Amino acid sequence: MDSKFCRVFFTLSALTFSITFSHQQDEQKILLVSFDGFRWDYIYRVPTPHFDYIMEYGVHVKKVTNVFVTTTYPNHYTLVTGLYPESHGIIANDMYDSTLNETFSLEDMKIYDSEFWEDAIPIWITNQIAGHNTGAMMWPGTDVKIHEEFPTYYMPYNESVSFEDRVAKVIEWFKLKKPINLALLYWEDPDEMGHNLGPDNPLMDPVISDIDSKLGYLIKELMKEKLWNTVNLIITSDHGMTQCSGEKIIELDQYVNPNDYFLIDHSPVRAILPKKGKFDMIYAALNNAHPNLTVYKKEDIPERFHYKHHHRIQPILIMADKGWTIIQNRSSTFMLGNHGYDNEFSDMHPLFLAHGPAFKKNISKDSMNSTDLYPLLCHILDIPPMPHNGSLANVEELLSEIVPIEIPHSRTTPQNDVNLSIYKVQSYAYFMGVFLGSVIVIVFLLVFLKHLTHSQMPTIQERNAEIAQPLLWS
Ligand SMILES: [Zn+2]
Repeated sequence: MDSKFCRVFFTLSALTFSITFSHQQDEQKILLVSFDGFRWDYIYRVPTPHFDYIMEYGVHVKKVTNVFVTTTYPNHYTLVTGLYPESHGIIANDMYDSTLNETFSLEDMKIYDSEFWEDAIPIWITNQIAGHNTGAMMWPGTDVKIHEEFPTYYMPYNESVSFEDRVAKVIEWFKLKKPINLALLYWEDPDEMGHNLGPDNPLMDPVISDIDSKLGYLIKELMKEKLWNTVNLIITSDHGMTQCSGEKIIELDQYVNPNDYFLIDHSPVRAILPKKGKFDMIYAALNNAHPNLTVYKKEDIPERFHYKHHHRIQPILIMADKGWTIIQNRSSTFMLGNHGYDNEFSDMHPLFLAHGPAFKKNISKDSMNSTDLYPLLCHILDIPPMPHNGSLANVEELLSEIVPIEIPHSRTTPQNDVNLSIYKVQSYAYFMGVFLGSVIVIVFLLVFLKHLTHSQMPTIQERNAEIAQPLLWS
């Protein structure tokens, strides 16, 4: 009888403690969001109360140096591998691989050949090897089979799926019986409108406001689903955008015969593969052809670009100055806004904000590299990083020293329309959980002591056995 009582007592106590304090032991969760083409300074251009809210209660990095070329696929793959494009192999949105004799093209969505992606092991694979689940919502590369793996849950790319539906699915993944600890969420704007309108166009203002509303929607849904305090939300982007002009055009046909080379990738950085025996002629014709065009032989590409040591990088690389467009001839398409330029240009830089238990509050940091995100993600998720080009030391000041326990706080409502009442209800529920759990433990303890006092004392041997038993279960 005594033995049974003790077993029940210890089991219930252990269970209660484990439920009550499970928040401390929970694994960290991350929701990484990319708003494609969201330039770092868009948040200063129009009121963005939801971005402000993240900054006030989380961290903000003012200058994020992304990787060259400053285009979508190379940068998104860097964010999830921590590698420069010359190491992860997605060196452009459009590529030609002479070894495979295959092309890769974002424009035609010809991106599903696994071999293009397999120079690196992206974070979702490492996360899954460590025994966790990943959810990927249209993040570039996540619907490609890489090293025989897909993310645990993912949705194939389909631009017609609304932001709200993408958020709903991500939240569902966080709440599954076997939940995810890492979600990757991608949204196409403001990149698309930035290309069409040009970033200097006042019509971009409502586009930026719309992204802020979308962020507000995401925050509210996380609060409603009681995930706001436990999920580390990271908001970033792949690149910025700069204004282009019909006056700033470089026409290649004016300098070289189009039959003498293959033109790969799009403005403003274009890869040139000369036909057999044409290299010297092409290089000589393009070099110094235009004051706003820089021409590199592959071996002369500056080290700071980290863009030399991969066989998909072509023998000649041509790069336009900021705001200039390289086209074949006047029949080619032209965009009012573009990116891809030198990653030293601030217009090419994305934003970086984060909020959650792993991050400090109201901290602003001057700079980081986009390669630093990967070791940061691995550190928070407590998974071993693969070799990378980033530095955890460069960003660890963003992290809270001890992952804080969720404590209800009574900060004032920020200047926005985020419904904080949901947040307060959630915090209150947690506080009540801790309180009730503690009461149950104390009551059990009192009943147990009373029981011991009133029952016949067992022998020393029996007592030791009974005390030892629960320890064996724990
Ligand atoms: Zn992009």
